[in-house]
Amino acid sequence: MSFDRRPSLSTSQSNDLIFKDPNSPHVPRLTRRLTGFLPQEIRAIDSIIPAESRKLWDAHKVKKFNEPSEFQDRFISHVEWTLARSLYNCDDLAAYEATSNSVRDNLVIDWNLTQQRQTARDKKRVYYLSLEFLMGRALDNALINMQTDTSSSGESREMVKGAIGDLGFKLEDVLKQEPDAALGNGGLGRLAACFVDSMATGDYPAWGYGLRYQYGIFAQKIINGFQVETPDYWLNFPNPWEIERSEIHVPINFYGYVDRSSNTSTLTPAEWLGGERVLAVAYDMPIPGFKTSTVNNLRLWSARPTTEFDFAKFNSGDYRNSVEQQQRAESITAVLYPNDNFEQGKELRLKQQYFWCAASLHDIVRRFKKTRRPWSEFPDQIAIQLNDTHPTLAIVELQRILVDLEKLDWHEAWGIVTATFAYTNHTVMQEALEKWPVGLFGHLLPRHLEIVFDINWFFLKEVEEKFPHDVDLLSRVSIIEESSPERQVRMAYLAVVGSHKVNGVAELHSDLIKTTIFKDFVKIYGVHKFTNVTNGITPRRWLKQANPKLASLISKTLNDPEDKFLLDMSKLTALRDLAEDEDFQEKWNDVKQFNKLRLADLIKELNGGVDILERDHIRNTLFDIQVKRIHEYKRQQLNILGVIHRYLSIKEALASGVKFEEVAKKFPRKVSIFGGKSAPGYYMAKLIIKLINSVAEVVNNDEELCDILKVVFIPDYNVSKAEIIIPASDLSEHISTAGTEASGTSNMKFVMNGGLIIGTVDGANVEITREIGEENIFLFGNLSENVEELRYAHQYQPQKLPQSLEKVLNAVESGAFSPDSPSEFQPLIDSIKHHGDYYLVSDDFDSYVATHELVDELYHKDKKSWLKKSILSVANVGFFSSDRCIEEYAGTIWNTEPLKPE
Ligand SMILES: *Cc1c(COP(=O)(O)O)cnc(C)c1O
Repeated sequence: MSFDRRPSLSTSQSNDLIFKDPNSPHVPRLTRRLTGFLPQEIRAIDSIIPAESRKLWDAHKVKKFNEPSEFQDRFISHVEWTLARSLYNCDDLAAYEATSNSVRDNLVIDWNLTQQRQTARDKKRVYYLSLEFLMGRALDNALINMQTDTSSSGESREMVKGAIGDLGFKLEDVLKQEPDAALGNGGLGRLAACFVDSMATGDYPAWGYGLRYQYGIFAQKIINGFQVETPDYWLNFPNPWEIERSEIHVPINFYGYVDRSSNTSTLTPAEWLGGERVLAVAYDMPIPGFKTSTVNNLRLWSARPTTEFDFAKFNSGDYRNSVEQQQRAESITAVLYPNDNFEQGKELRLKQQYFWCAASLHDIVRRFKKTRRPWSEFPDQIAIQLNDTHPTLAIVELQRILVDLEKLDWHEAWGIVTATFAYTNHTVMQEALEKWPVGLFGHLLPRHLEIVFDINWFFLKEVEEKFPHDVDLLSRVSIIEESSPERQVRMAYLAVVGSHKVNGVAELHSDLIKTTIFKDFVKIYGVHKFTNVTNGITPRRWLKQANPKLASLISKTLNDPEDKFLLDMSKLTALRDLAEDEDFQEKWNDVKQFNKLRLADLIKELNGGVDILERDHIRNTLFDIQVKRIHEYKRQQLNILGVIHRYLSIKEALASGVKFEEVAKKFPRKVSIFGGKSAPGYYMAKLIIKLINSVAEVVNNDEELCDILKVVFIPDYNVSKAEIIIPASDLSEHISTAGTEASGTSNMKFVMNGGLIIGTVDGANVEITREIGEENIFLFGNLSENVEELRYAHQYQPQKLPQSLEKVLNAVESGAFSPDSPSEFQPLIDSIKHHGDYYLVSDDFDSYVATHELVDELYHKDKKSWLKKSILSVANVGFFSSDRCIEEYAGTIWNTEPLKPE
């Protein structure tokens, strides 16, 4: 059998055009609107515009706004026409919508140009597949990143601020109207958001692909100290940041069966028939780069019923069922699964994953086929990065497309697949590794299961040839786990086998995966398949947007009025020379003070207008912050038990007659601030939240303390709250059990904002220490190489708790924080005392408390040294820019280059 390996030209509609094929009848018609802004190579199209389109072409006058008056015209047009509002009825929300639509108009012009350029130049593209994009707010970010034709970036924000100021609006109030796009749980989703920012900023031809959940991560309310989840209605108002592409809809199939009537081998083209069908509709979000006119695309898919109607059912009188089935379609993208670092194995989740992978792959393949290149060039033109195992089905789907639809030889197809994909691992924790029961998998995706079995067959054959007669090895590495009661598909193994590179997200983590979960695969493939790309964060959002005062102090100090340091963070090293300059330290401290007051305002607002922190004392109150998802491995329990220890020590000293002044010297002013969501079904994490709030209740109302200790739980931690919270920290806590936190990214955000860190030797804390110097970070606790041993010891010896912790646990057990139900927190105590203390709270407790004493001492007795450490942290944080990550991915994994606008 022979196949024509040149893809046929697809006729499906799209916004990105094929300039390589000027004979295509679609080109002139679709490009007629692109006047005026066209780069050179696209302007060539001008010559092939048909006469009948000439008038429209010439009449086209769309133009970006550059001046305040142009912005105001645009703003008013949007109030009048887009919102159809009377101008005397334009509130802050309407002003937000009108401003966003005006800014979006500018971005769309550059977005179109970028897409045309990328299509015309036909360079290798990157597709970043992530089930989560935790974007936060878009408007402020767009104002910072956006280029206008006359002003350099950064100035467009000031210009718009002035322009809407003249119309009677305050930019700050307008920005607050925007709901967060909270399509993610935590670090993994925020990483994807930082990466799309850096890919656009670096001019990489790169798209993100994800899902458009109708409900993002739930909103958290705290009622009587407990977390209560409420739905996140983020799409209640029109969302100016998405462009619905109802013309781009991809049919997606589920269930059914594989037709084997004509042949028997699973390796030859098969037909997958019957089952359920839904449509994937594309929604595009423009992703503007900073100081460049590149605007990339984030494409999110939304599920819709097909317009086909089940007439068989209808005619048999089952109208209701027929309609219900249609409605079922929408449930696929209704809600984000609210688990962080935990897998639940629900059928709807697998459906989400396939829906998203299939739609994205269809889109990618369609775009490739328009170039009419041979299939062998697919991996030269396309790199697909898998953000964790959630998109692993994309590997199987591409194999299915190549074998079943494009009729390629199985092995040729598999060579293309593995050269295209790369996989980022995010955890070594067993409970977070994705597995699917074979039965469920095969029921939903019968053809895909066959392909997985075939992939596994050829893989195991290869292993058997390399390591003959090692049956144990075969069963250890098999993609199919032979477990009872049912066999499972191990998605992480499938991702490793189907990719050409596998990376961890910090050095320690990348080393760990090679010695633990993927040890056998290192033996099989060699060590070079495994690599490290340490995570990073975008300094545009996490410095400039979150901390404008600090960004402005830096730009003045570096004599860098255009904020070029945000593109080249190595420029910050010039701050080293000022670390001990007292004038500079004072300015630095004033910025911190401003940010602490800003956070105090937020806390007051969230507390119903009642102040928890006394303004007069804020300058010498240490802000000690732990904000992240609530998880036993992240050890918020260690933090709150440490707070209780401090409280008891203060009370004990006062009770024994020590004068208050003396006590206050030993335990200077501090506020412990917590924030974070628990998965709704995670009992222990919810109990930790309750404990924090119960301790806050007691401590904050204990008048004997005269406010030297306060505890605050900030409800509904999200990206926009993080932007207020993080710049206000003196100290932040990154205290996971060693070896459990793959990287962490909020540690980087805090350092970038001049906060010091107390942390374990875990994740990216290791590289942070290397970059900023070990004298500038407070490390404590056991090392990851000792964790296994310590856990083992807990299993076989009765737990011996340090006295300090014993006291704390006794107080909790006695009901000191839950007088009405003393046993309320027993499960937390039991997990430490009686159930093996898996997270090693008892092993690290004394080291943790002692390290906090060092923190107090330095902060209150040697503020100059403190400020020096703070300045040096920022001076040396450059490595953690996500721009550096993207360069590493591009150079070592994707083999792609930037495509700069001319
Ligand atoms: C950065 C970020 C995270 C990740 O925090 P870690 O401390 O690294 O787990 C989670 N949530 C939000 C809103 C963030 O901005």
